[in-house]
Amino acid sequence: MVNKTTATIGYPRIGLNREMKKALEAYWSGKSSLDELLKVSKQVEEESLKDQLNAGIQLIGVGDHTMYDHVLDWTFRLGLIPDRFKQVQNPKDKYFAMARGNKEGLQALDMSKFFDSNYHYLVPELNANSKPSPNFEEFLGEISRAQQQIGKERAVPIVFGPVTYARLARCEGVSVDEMISRLVPAYASLLNSLKSLQVPEVQMHEPGFVLGDAEILQKAAETAYQELAKVQVPINLVTYYDDLGKTYPWVVKLPVQTISLDFVRGDNLSLVKKHGFPADKKLGAGVLDGRSVWKDTGYAAQVIKELEAIVKTSIIVQPSCSLMHVPLDVNSEPSLDSNLKSRLSFARQKISELGLVASGKSDSTANGPGVASSQDLENTLDKSMFSRSEPFSKRRSQQFTVPGGFGTTTIGSFPQTPAVRKLRLQYKKGQVSEDEYQRQIDRHISFAIGVQEALGLDVFVHGESERSDMVEYFGQKLRGFTFTENGWVQSYGSRYVRPPIIYADVSRISPMTVREFVVAQSMTNKPVKGMLTGPVTILNWSFPRKDIPRKQQALQIALALRDEVADLEKSGCSIIQMDEPALREGLPLKKERWNEYLDWAVKAFRLSTVVAAPKTQIVTHLCYSDFQDILEAIDQMDADVLTIENSRSDDAMLRALAKYGYARDIGPGVYDVHSPAVPSTEFLVKKLEGFKKSGIPLERLWINPDCGLKTRQWEEVIPSLRNMVDVAVQLRKAT
Ligand code: GLN
Ligand code: ZN
Repeated sequence: MVNKTTATIGYPRIGLNREMKKALEAYWSGKSSLDELLKVSKQVEEESLKDQLNAGIQLIGVGDHTMYDHVLDWTFRLGLIPDRFKQVQNPKDKYFAMARGNKEGLQALDMSKFFDSNYHYLVPELNANSKPSPNFEEFLGEISRAQQQIGKERAVPIVFGPVTYARLARCEGVSVDEMISRLVPAYASLLNSLKSLQVPEVQMHEPGFVLGDAEILQKAAETAYQELAKVQVPINLVTYYDDLGKTYPWVVKLPVQTISLDFVRGDNLSLVKKHGFPADKKLGAGVLDGRSVWKDTGYAAQVIKELEAIVKTSIIVQPSCSLMHVPLDVNSEPSLDSNLKSRLSFARQKISELGLVASGKSDSTANGPGVASSQDLENTLDKSMFSRSEPFSKRRSQQFTVPGGFGTTTIGSFPQTPAVRKLRLQYKKGQVSEDEYQRQIDRHISFAIGVQEALGLDVFVHGESERSDMVEYFGQKLRGFTFTENGWVQSYGSRYVRPPIIYADVSRISPMTVREFVVAQSMTNKPVKGMLTGPVTILNWSFPRKDIPRKQQALQIALALRDEVADLEKSGCSIIQMDEPALREGLPLKKERWNEYLDWAVKAFRLSTVVAAPKTQIVTHLCYSDFQDILEAIDQMDADVLTIENSRSDDAMLRALAKYGYARDIGPGVYDVHSPAVPSTEFLVKKLEGFKKSGIPLERLWINPDCGLKTRQWEEVIPSLRNMVDVAVQLRKAT
């Protein structure tokens, strides 16, 4: 019989009641001391170890607690501090300056999405001169504390591996391979220190091996791990977020004692079956989905059973990845339906399921509503439901355009002032009646319309003051979504989100945005855009069901939005914007799976929009990433106007679209909405002159900010838009 144990490979680190966020913000604002912050941090860390100890986990991953981001932690520990931060003396000030910049104008490290998750990490900046000058003291202290709390035999340090670290860094003037080799001595010295602490093993987290291009790392990885093996401390090489793909045959042969694989994303099970698993190695089997809120011990038990027939030594039953991607405890949700609750599993529930699965049992097979039909929704729909009745070339002349081009508009939201937030909160708590709430919302709409009128924009928006969040707003109005009260997960640093949970078939109950549109349009003769969040973004920013494919869920949402588009049109709306900022985020890690995703993502967008009559202008908005590698998919969305984040990339996106031959209207962002700075007219003139040279005909260009303005203040928005409009009017073609 194969020996079976349980392990964890990371745990939520924000605290049950968002203790870390509160402590960090108090510290940053000067309301509390560093000691107080450290105290809270230690408490949260201790609590999480206590949870895992109480759940009876045999090998508990430790040392993954963080003040902000674990990748930043390793940059700091490895002493790979970019030069500009060296002037900051105090270590904590330095750390937070790297995370968020500082008042002296130091620019933070760039933030980027961590693999295909919704977590963001701080990108290490490395160059030809980067040499580690490690300091592991604090980390080792953390490990010793954990050992004291939970016992030496149980505490397994979590180390972010050198290959992945270098791969995720921005390396300028130095190759990733070279960087890996420079990192190895630092890691070897760390392993030596951990060895003297008598740890049972060290988890080397190397999710980088699942990336589509990881084959190119083979040589550097082999050399690195041969070197690290010399320390003779047992290493568990931990991979997650996808299967190993082409790297499987050599990764499992690296000189380590244990290989951990993700058995819920990608298809590692087939790889294990096809290539076998080394007889001398232990297998860490990530069978409980660390990125899903659904209980699925039935699946986990089944995979373990299949692995038992293949693995010779030992199987470690564990979550597929760190549990940082799920909320902490279902039991902190008093108002969730109890039947639904019994099918959900957050971090605390998952760790208690590990033992069950290891003992060969399971307590559930279903997840999601459990009444899934296997029919592909696409096949039940007429093909004509995916195409507009006329092509763009025939549509355009029927739609609203600004003579001379450079029509001005915004992306949707206006400042979410304290007054707006307070109003929504009071309404939520039942302190203001629905009537009063709507009356107040209408005043905000009226203000936004007045401002746009005064500034002379061409296409108006109502300002989105009724929306706290572009996904939550729709989730709350649609059937099939539910919400948690305390289900926070870390997006980055002290920013946490509560993704909605899709638990049943999605459908629309009644119109969701028509009232606000009608109110806004009644106040002006300029066209007001209907404002919707697209199906792919709603899906990607929610916890999806697991019993039906994501494609089916996207199409269901699309059908609901399609009705909304039709209703907006009926109410006189002639321009409808369907935002898809998360379109690119959903891309699979491996390129060979991109097409399959893009195919249904584009279909979902079209299904939701093509119902519009030819004279109705469909706008879409993309941001948060670089879209240059999915231009064809963007083209296939068949939107009449594409507004796109562009300003920070120095018009790279616009040039790429021109080169591609993108033949519809484009609204490239002209200024960055993340900065409070007001773009000067000189700056804007340069920008627009640049647009003129892009190769896109002036008539097809729209002028708008990069994204919504909800995080800005009116004091910034008004002068910024004034400059934007002035310059657009000035540089428009004389007609
Ligand atoms: N319409 C949304 C807004 O303006 C778009 C936000 C986004 O792209 N993230 O806020
Ligand atoms: Zn945006």
